[in-house]
Amino acid sequence: MAYSYDEKNIFAMILRGEIPNKTVIETAHTLAFEDIQPQAPVHMLVIPKGAYVTYDDFAARASDAEILDFTRTLAKICEMTGVSADAGDGCRFISNAGTHGMQEVPHMHVHLLAGRPLGRLLDPAG
Ligand code: 5GP
Repeated sequence: MAYSYDEKNIFAMILRGEIPNKTVIETAHTLAFEDIQPQAPVHMLVIPKGAYVTYDDFAARASDAEILDFTRTLAKICEMTGVSADAGDGCRFISNAGTHGMQEVPHMHVHLLAGRPLGRLLDPAG
């Protein structure tokens, strides 16, 4: 079964320039911007410019150039912001997918969170 992409989702609107965003970095295939409701001192969203719904959709269908660009841009942002576990205190990458993943915006994105201890990965209470 193939994912169906909703062109009206909010990140598609950001990519079309219909909604403003606080851009951190933009490359040929990738855009990173500040989350509108930050949950940590550093909270950015890294998205591919292509129409992919979830990370697995991106991983399955994106071109090598898009995947390389996305991955290297993620590394560049960690370097720029000094949050890597190597140079700084570490961070968390989260990519929610679908209903159980509690994904709100159906355009593939990775949250980059840092700047404070982030707790355990999952809330045992669900
Ligand atoms: P999800 O739950 O889909 O993984 O996360 C979606 C994220 O997008 C949320 O953290 C939310 O705060 C963020 N978000 C939703 N609408 C906007 C918007 O218009 N601009 C920005 N910058 N972030 C948004």
